[in-house]
Amino acid sequence: MEHKAIIIGGGIAGLAMALFLKKADIESVVYEQAQVYGKVGGHFVIHPSGVQMIEMLGLGEELKKNSHHLIDFAVLDKENNPLFEEEVEAELELEDMPYLINIARFHLINVLYKEAIKQGINIQFGKRLRGFTQDEEGVNVTFEDGTDDFGSILIGADGVRSKTRELLFPFPANPLKYLGKTGVYGMIETEKLGEFKEYFTTDTSLIYFHDNFNFFVSKHHPTDEEISWSLISTEPRKIAKKDFEGKPIEELKVDLAARFEGWEMPIQQLIEATDNIIAKQLYRIDLMEHYSHGRVVLIGDALHTADPNAGMGTTLAFEDAMYLAKMLRDHDYEDAFYYFEHDRKSRAEKVFHSANLLDNLEFDNVEDYAFFNDGVEANWDK
Ligand SMILES: Cc1cc2nc3c(=O)[nH]c(=O)nc-3n(C[C@H](O)[C@H](O)[C@H](O)COP(=O)(O)OP(=O)(O)OC[C@H]3O[C@@H](n4cnc5c(N)ncnc54)[C@H](O)[C@@H]3O)c2cc1C
Repeated sequence: MEHKAIIIGGGIAGLAMALFLKKADIESVVYEQAQVYGKVGGHFVIHPSGVQMIEMLGLGEELKKNSHHLIDFAVLDKENNPLFEEEVEAELELEDMPYLINIARFHLINVLYKEAIKQGINIQFGKRLRGFTQDEEGVNVTFEDGTDDFGSILIGADGVRSKTRELLFPFPANPLKYLGKTGVYGMIETEKLGEFKEYFTTDTSLIYFHDNFNFFVSKHHPTDEEISWSLISTEPRKIAKKDFEGKPIEELKVDLAARFEGWEMPIQQLIEATDNIIAKQLYRIDLMEHYSHGRVVLIGDALHTADPNAGMGTTLAFEDAMYLAKMLRDHDYEDAFYYFEHDRKSRAEKVFHSANLLDNLEFDNVEDYAFFNDGVEANWDK
């Protein structure tokens, strides 16, 4: 069947979807609400299967030039002592594993966007989804600026607060729930660290576990010019907006830095010197029962919100995009959507439960978790 796919959201999932559809020779147009891509967002880890998807798009070299290869993790306590026994440390050794990376979100967006433009993909900015209707002919989509478009299918890649999902499965079908955690993401030019620079510009990525939080700091680029960090805290009772994401950034930094007073590593100074910080109360939806309805399907964070402790959100987004494009290449949209849901569900469930691994630091049954070296079969062949 001939498709024209309308993609809502030009984030990681939306851009990857458009590129995989192009590879499948299917036309698409991406509608993104932002006016431009800015230098926003922090870093994220991409697991080997996500890296394989990026390589399938022919972007392996670009990815290498824009990311940090995670080969060594140190899991430490506040005195900088290893947290685990030697045997567990050995299990965490990544040298023999497939490629695992840390990357700044805006660097990855830039890699995907440049490629999409090079391939002539139509990306429209300043277009915020308002609504859609569907019938046997196709889907009519309307935007808040009063314009509209018509396609054969609609792909919702519009993130955690997906409007597509809300319209497709109205409340109370999949309510957005507070995850019980907060996330703070920071990025800093290392020159601003002065005498403390040398502590953080190593190839080893550092993870600290303490009280109710974990702190991750790592390079996200082959150069030492910038590094990024994230602080994920378990907060069963939501912190009031005015005391967290609504708080003036300088005051928030003082609160965060105070947690690291007296620590062996100068994390307190790192936080104090960071200009670029995003603080977010984190939200989730439960595992979705249905991935599509009629001609409308969801992918990426719109479909499954990944706990940051699983570190899998971006990897899942790439897998979704590749697999859905492959199914659309080989089947009509009804079968494609059926196979997409049927074949992806067990993977999504495994990822959903994987956050427990870091929540509880329970490494006894590592094979039960979606961890570094599994994913989907990265195979584009028929
Ligand atoms: C600005 C930003 C910063 C982020 N920073 C981090 C970070 O520091 N660390 C981390 O781990 N994850 C971060 N994330 C989340 C991370 O990008 C995703 O978890 C993951 O990459 C999956 O991507 P996605 O494309 O499904 O969702 P997203 O990356 O959230 O992309 C969704 C896209 O849809 C667009 N959109 C939303 N609603 C509409 C609408 N109604 N109409 C049109 N377009 C719409 C959004 O503007 C966005 O570009 C960030 C997301 C965003 C949008």
